[in-house]
Amino acid sequence: MRRAIYPGSFDPVTNGHLDVIERARKLFDEVIVAVAHNDQKQPFFPLEQRLELLRATIGGADHVRVEPLDGLLVEFAVQQNAIAVVRGLRAVSDFEFEFQMALMNRKLESSVETIFLMPKEEYTYLSSRIVKEIARLGGDIASFVPPHVVEAIARRQKR
Ligand code: ADP
Repeated sequence: MRRAIYPGSFDPVTNGHLDVIERARKLFDEVIVAVAHNDQKQPFFPLEQRLELLRATIGGADHVRVEPLDGLLVEFAVQQNAIAVVRGLRAVSDFEFEFQMALMNRKLESSVETIFLMPKEEYTYLSSRIVKEIARLGGDIASFVPPHVVEAIARRQKR
């Protein structure tokens, strides 16, 4: 069983994340999408809702699971018997941070490899942060995120 962990904040999930999940699904028998609590950043959506939005989007897709992630990523990976951590790489700007994380994770746990997947070109400029910014300014986000997320952001903004 070749299992991979795809960790992130997913605040909220975007079409870029979904593209990475699809690519990872082709390479591994199972992909666990691990949603970080992220206490440092004040999230837009609480953890429970980020999990819900991902689950609603991915639905019953085979070989994908959505789980909360608390604590060290490599410990979670070992616990889950995963052989790899998947990260998305959009641009050179992602590289420095990702490179540092990958090497640090290798130092902490040498049995887990990090692999990087590039999304479709049209998603290379897409991030959860920019989607929230466009929505805040009244722009249309329907082509960047799944429908559930468009609705959740709209509901959130009405509050
Ligand atoms: P984090 O807070 O860990 O950056 P994100 O939820 O923003 O979490 O992203 C999780 C992972 O998905 C990261 O590896 C990030 O580079 C990747 N990612 C985010 N948006 C995209 C996208 N549009 N295309 C490809 N990868 C992406």
